[in-house]
Amino acid sequence: MTVLNISNLTIDFGGFVAINNVNFSLEDGEKHAIIGPNGAGKTTFFNLITGHLKPSQGDVSFKDKTITALAPHKIVKLGLARSFQRINIFPRMTVFENIQTSLIARDNKHFNFFSPGAAQNREETAELLELVGLEDEFAEIAGELAYGKQKQLELAISLAENPTVLLLDEPTAGMSPQETSVAIALVDEIARARKLTLLFTEHDMSVVFGIADRISVLHHGEIIASGTPDAVRSDPEVRRVYLGESDDAAA
Ligand code: ADP
Ligand code: MG
Repeated sequence: MTVLNISNLTIDFGGFVAINNVNFSLEDGEKHAIIGPNGAGKTTFFNLITGHLKPSQGDVSFKDKTITALAPHKIVKLGLARSFQRINIFPRMTVFENIQTSLIARDNKHFNFFSPGAAQNREETAELLELVGLEDEFAEIAGELAYGKQKQLELAISLAENPTVLLLDEPTAGMSPQETSVAIALVDEIARARKLTLLFTEHDMSVVFGIADRISVLHHGEIIASGTPDAVRSDPEVRRVYLGESDDAAA
């Protein structure tokens, strides 16, 4: 079953076409990677899907409902959540409060000053802390966590809406090799535990080829190949424009 269907998607930034007539589908339960050189349009593509940018042309539908240019928070409510390329947490709150606040916002409640602070959504907060492996850090100030742990926290926040589809934009950017393997194992485990469909961008090819069921290659705003890791790896055009172009990208 197709959960996300994108047709003829285009965005023109005043003459610069960053996404050009893209057709794309995401199947229920798959782990789909979008790869491509810096500036290929990966983040822009995600922004178009999640309502952060309005396309010049084309449609995005999620579970057969058109979501083109719907407000981001409405798209999240439908079950399509994302994490950002840059960290998106409340740096001065504790880890616990970060997650709790997301849950309170989800439920459209306000923080209740008359009930003991920690009581609201406490169990669910604890569940999410455990899911992302931050139960020992619950009282720490989020902004003081190591980078990899901040990304784990961000993941917990994106899971607060109970999404069915999760978009991750470079989840391991800026991480050490050690943090990268922890983060990837975690995402894999969570995807399985919560039966999530994953769409992610990633620059580390060992991560991409290690976890993706399907890979699409974006180049100058166009999808030039889409298929299994083996099919994409041996695609002559992909090798020419991307995987073959530098040892770095193919590593
Ligand atoms: P990637 O995530 O693949 O590295 P981006 O989607 O961030 O690429 O950017 C794709 C291209 O679109 C880049 O050339 C970038 O400079 C351009 N771009 C992105 N956002 C905007 C914007 N708001 N206005 C103009 N150009 C943009
Ligand atoms: Mg990007």
